[in-house]
Amino acid sequence: MPEMPEVQGLVEFLGGRVTARTVQRVHAAAVAAVKTYDPPLTALTGTRVTGATRRGKFIDLAVEPGDGTGEDGDLHLIMHLAKAGWLRWYETLPARTPALGRGPVALRVGFDDGSGFDLTEAGTAKSLAVYLVRDPGEVPGVARLGPDPLSADFDRDAFADLLAGRRTQIKGVLRDQSVIAGIGNAYSDEILHAARMSPYALASSLTPAEVDGLYAALRDTVTEAVAAASRRPPAELKDAKRRGMRVHGRQGQECSVCGDTVRSVYFADKSNSSDIARQSRGGSSMEYCPTCQTKGKILADRLRSRFLK
Ligand SMILES: [Zn+2]
Repeated sequence: MPEMPEVQGLVEFLGGRVTARTVQRVHAAAVAAVKTYDPPLTALTGTRVTGATRRGKFIDLAVEPGDGTGEDGDLHLIMHLAKAGWLRWYETLPARTPALGRGPVALRVGFDDGSGFDLTEAGTAKSLAVYLVRDPGEVPGVARLGPDPLSADFDRDAFADLLAGRRTQIKGVLRDQSVIAGIGNAYSDEILHAARMSPYALASSLTPAEVDGLYAALRDTVTEAVAAASRRPPAELKDAKRRGMRVHGRQGQECSVCGDTVRSVYFADKSNSSDIARQSRGGSSMEYCPTCQTKGKILADRLRSRFLK
């Protein structure tokens, strides 16, 4: 799943390519992906792009309708790539209309210079979502976003306030979009490894020193990942993400810090009811290093241990 660094990379790329371009055509090939109907997607045709921004893991493409006087107010094409979605850029967009309801293309948007992009989604579980709204706050997932970890006011005390009183596991808190925007399963694994903290630590029980360490790990991990994603074309972003991971997706490999074997643990994933991992394995997996994070303790699979009772 693309998380904030990849989405930031996509937004910077898209903003650089399409700002001031006019939208020439829009095709929704996956009708279920379009979550709004007023204004209709066809309202995008003839609008001029004013910029691209990131909101958590959402891409916000702002366009100016009508005669360019701005009197009608901007529209926002908000896109969420979910677990298996991606953006494919074309210098020359294929002329044909993507097949309705078949194939990986969910949305195709073309611009006046012949360029354009597809939003694609792999697999059968479809959760990619597209919204066309007058105000980004009309999108429920955007309205409930917590603070962005790269915003100037996201300081150590603001982070401590978010954790205070939450008697839940830190792994879940870090990837809860309503607490902190943009961090998902992969980067929360990386942050916890950098902070040498168990994913099962209770947020409300962290000592001030642990909060210091976790805050620093979060800012460093996210800042580094955003820098690595910045100015890369969309086709390179997934590999860049994979390469940057120290524990996530590296089960069975050596921890680069201590040499112990990176372990994987499965957990029921309530935040992603339609994800692919859930279909095949009954949940999602997270990775951690026992020596670095759990004093050598091997964490039990949440699902397996429950089913064995
Ligand atoms: Zn280690």
